[in-house]
Amino acid sequence: MPQQLRVYVTPAIVLRQRKLGDADKILTLYTATFGKVDAVVKGVRKTKSRMAGHVEPLTQANFQLAKGKTLDIVTQVETIEPFQALRGDLERMSRALYACELLDKFTETHEPNFELYRLLLDTLSRLATRDHFEVAVRFYEMALLDAMGYRPELEECVTCRKRLTAITNYWTAAGGGVVCASCRTDETAVRPISANAVKLLRLLLHGRFSDAARVTIDAGLNAELERALLEYVRWVLERDVRSTAFIDTLRKRRPSRARTMAAAGDAPA
Ligand SMILES: [Zn+2]
Repeated sequence: MPQQLRVYVTPAIVLRQRKLGDADKILTLYTATFGKVDAVVKGVRKTKSRMAGHVEPLTQANFQLAKGKTLDIVTQVETIEPFQALRGDLERMSRALYACELLDKFTETHEPNFELYRLLLDTLSRLATRDHFEVAVRFYEMALLDAMGYRPELEECVTCRKRLTAITNYWTAAGGGVVCASCRTDETAVRPISANAVKLLRLLLHGRFSDAARVTIDAGLNAELERALLEYVRWVLERDVRSTAFIDTLRKRRPSRARTMAAAGDAPA
């Protein structure tokens, strides 16, 4: 039976790929127009495939996709930017793959968000071209957290809400920001955070990338920022996973709850 295929075209960045059967691959794309999309690219692992060179992770390409029953199918692809400079340098490549993985983990499929697409694209470009590229990763982590609704508290203590002073305070991932010395408890997983680090986190949050890039960040300060942001990213993702599990548990219980509600609704009639 002939099947009506709906075809769409969009620029996208390949976040990751995995094998399917003997010759195919499933790509996870972050598209400019439709958000995250999983799509099959057929025959791509055969030596003669013309698409093979265009679908590697980190590639920005123009994709033509056909709506499939479960997964969409790549019908044409043409590279826009291969980011060759990232592939030739393991340090840069590892940061770029980390950026892709974060976007994949933070987002659901089919939720359009051009800002996130733009953010990843800018980050890959910075990682490919800048001498000091760590700041690009820190800026990306902060922007992503903020965009996903997890803006860390950097102005007031998360517990007593007093304005933070420019001394060593404490970072709490579970508390979502900075806690002051008097509110720090032994039970909370906290680590000291310097006044300089807090200042830079504020700049990453409120400034433009060019502002953050102008600051000289030594290795010690970068390590401090990296630990704090990664700890928070991990905490958020773990919480997301747990909240997904919670939703699933509720979903399983829903039939009985729906029956109860239906019965309650029927009763007065
Ligand atoms: Zn406090």
